[in-house]
Amino acid sequence: MRLRHKPWADDYMDENSQIVVRDPFNLKDKWNDVFNKEQPLHLEIGSGKGQFIAGMGKQHPEVNFIGLERVKSVIVGALKKVLDAETENVRLINEDAQDLRDLFATSEVDHIYLNFSDPWPKSRHEKRRLTFHTFLDQYKDVLKREGAVTFKTDNRGLFEYSLSSLSQYGMVLEDISLDLHALDDPLNVQTEYEEKFSAKGQPIYRCTARFKE
Ligand code: SAH
Repeated sequence: MRLRHKPWADDYMDENSQIVVRDPFNLKDKWNDVFNKEQPLHLEIGSGKGQFIAGMGKQHPEVNFIGLERVKSVIVGALKKVLDAETENVRLINEDAQDLRDLFATSEVDHIYLNFSDPWPKSRHEKRRLTFHTFLDQYKDVLKREGAVTFKTDNRGLFEYSLSSLSQYGMVLEDISLDLHALDDPLNVQTEYEEKFSAKGQPIYRCTARFKE
C-alpha cells in the first residue's frame, strides 16, 4: 500500500476525531479537556507512525500524551497504532511544530520528546532542525519551568549539533547516552526508526535537557 496521497486520510481522521484533534488551535490552554483525566502533558514532535506515543501511552497511564506530526499520510499510521493500543491517554495533532505557541499556552506542557528528527545536514537548512534556537525558544515558553526535552537519534551529526545548540542556549544536559541500547533500559519505548537503525548496527544516542531557571 502506498502511503502517499491517501484520499481517505481526512475521512479516517474525521471518523476518529476523539483521537486526532481536528481543531487543535482552539484547545490552547485547555488540553486537559480532551483527556479523561487531568494529569501531566507530554508532547512528541514528529511522531511518525506512532509506535513511541502509543507505547508510552500504554506504559504511562498517569500521563496524557500528544503526538504532533505534520504529514497526513504518516499520521494516519499513528492513528491506527493508537486505536489498536486501546489506550485512552493519547491524542494526535496533524500540524507543524512551527506554531507551538498557538497550540499550547505558557507552561502547559511537562515534557517534550524529539525522536529521530529530520537531520537537515546542510548548514543552510540549520533553522529547520528541531533543536535550532528558534524551536528552543518555543519549547521554553510552552514547557513548565521544571519541564524537559528528551532527544533520541541515530544521527551523529544531528546529535553533536544538538548538544552544542542546547548547551549554547544555556540548557542543562542530563543523561547523555552514546549507546542507549547498551543500557538495556526495559522502560525505553522504541520508535520505528530506532528499531530500523539499531537493527543495522547503528548506536542510538539520547539526551535529556532542561532550561535553567
Ligand atoms: N519519530 C518517528 C519518526 C521520525 S521521522 C520515529 O522515530 O520513528 C521524523 C518525523 O518528524 C517525520 O514523520 C516528519 O514528518 C516529522 N516532522 C519533521 N518536522 C516536523 C515539524 N516541524 N512538525 C511536525 N512534524 C515534523
